[in-house]
Amino acid sequence: MLDDTNDYTDYDGTVYGGVESSSNFAAVPDAFQRLWTPHRLAYIEHGQMPGEGECPFCLAPGMPDDEALIVARGTHAYVLLNLYPYNSGHLLVCPYRHVASYDEATADEVNEIASLTQTAMRVLSVTSRTHGFNIGMNQGRIAGAGIADHLHQHIVPRWALDANFFPIIARTKALPRLLGEVRAEIAAAWAAEE
Ligand SMILES: [Zn+2]
Repeated sequence: MLDDTNDYTDYDGTVYGGVESSSNFAAVPDAFQRLWTPHRLAYIEHGQMPGEGECPFCLAPGMPDDEALIVARGTHAYVLLNLYPYNSGHLLVCPYRHVASYDEATADEVNEIASLTQTAMRVLSVTSRTHGFNIGMNQGRIAGAGIADHLHQHIVPRWALDANFFPIIARTKALPRLLGEVRAEIAAAWAAEE
């Protein structure tokens, strides 16, 4: 622990002298730990936070790909990185049309959501050497849909040993790569796949 003598005693009893005490810093200490998440900057800088009543999946196609984190655009549906990824490369496939339920989607929308999902798997296998995927839709807020009013299919790449205790004890996910970097890589690989 740091104390006023500026000696630091490690967990094994080793004492290190001359350590600067944080009590001398120009800051207000509090009870919170910080997990720095620079990937959130893409979200903040580009002002993607939708206003009250606005649907982010309706707004995204009207924005440039890099700002909206879009990796591919089809005729009836498009693919973007999830702003709140479970893993790096977590993609969402959305119809352009604001429709909530899978059974309300047209045949064209269902077909393109399916083919975009297949391409996404092939692309992620190349870019991220995935070991597996979780693919699915949460239908309705009760089922876990964050944005329940606009259909979206999750594609979550999985690797052996990618799960850890963070989400359980702290409702926190540690993500090793920034969203903008991952988007550029997937979009380039997507163009090569088509
Ligand atoms: Zn919408």
